[in-house]
Amino acid sequence: MQHDTFLLITGGSRGIGAAVARQAAAAGWHVAINYTRDATAAEAVAAQVRALGRQALTLQADVADEAQVQAMFTRLDAAGRLGGLVNNAGVVDVAQRVDEMSLARWRRMFDINVFGTMLCARAAVQRLSTRHGGTGGAIVNVSSVAARLGAPGQYVDYAAAKGAVDVFTLGLARELATEGVRVNAVRPGVIVTDIHASGGQPERAQQMAPQIPMQRPGEADEVAAAIVWLLSDAASYTTGALMDVTGGR
Ligand code: NAP
Repeated sequence: MQHDTFLLITGGSRGIGAAVARQAAAAGWHVAINYTRDATAAEAVAAQVRALGRQALTLQADVADEAQVQAMFTRLDAAGRLGGLVNNAGVVDVAQRVDEMSLARWRRMFDINVFGTMLCARAAVQRLSTRHGGTGGAIVNVSSVAARLGAPGQYVDYAAAKGAVDVFTLGLARELATEGVRVNAVRPGVIVTDIHASGGQPERAQQMAPQIPMQRPGEADEVAAAIVWLLSDAASYTTGALMDVTGGR
């Protein structure tokens, strides 16, 4: 199916977001790729989207910064019409107990993972909702199985932030249910990406394998497939769902 609209993917320069960009392009979406630091990586993903015959643009913005989010959506408006949003940008931090964590760490965790998601969702709703003159669309928030497990001894703050993303997903889905906008979340388990190295544990995905019922970590493409399905018309009656993609964990 061909779309004449753009899918905006926050944190689309690598990992799960980059996999979503490629699969969404193959499914017919034009793709807008947001990133913070690595323009070269974002451009490489854009080139892969164009090779699939779809339009691509790269948009630098820190999703935790309200002015930068607004500027990103204004640039996207100039390029074409928004049809969907994947709130994928997210961070972890080094493994710590709660009694060792700083308020600065908690603020960064919630600024990016929670308020970044909410800022982008708000801007998308203002464009997609029939209440605002839009023609509808879909939002997928990337949460984590940590919201269900709590991540004790590692990053309880991250788990709490993802719990907020889950409840935000439920509420926004019900708020928009008659306005043409479906809102769902995907909760990945342990997935092979760079995020583990950014938390100081580059081998974490493989080390966790014995604790996963399928005895292996997942691949970014296995999460992207669920996200692209939730965005598609095949999911037309699915809203407010929290879909675990965890190998059974
Ligand atoms: P990743 O490989 O570390 O990639 C993170 C992406 O987010 C990058 O494109 C990065 O861009 C971008 N980003 C980071 N901070 C940003 C900000 N403030 N504003 C805009 N973009 C920002 O991560 P991943 O593993 O693919 O994770 C993607 C999502 O899945 C996250 O929400 C994560 O919490 C969730 N998740 C991952 C796993 C896992 O095991 N991998 C499990 C459960 C949930 P730059 O490189 O340009 O900074």
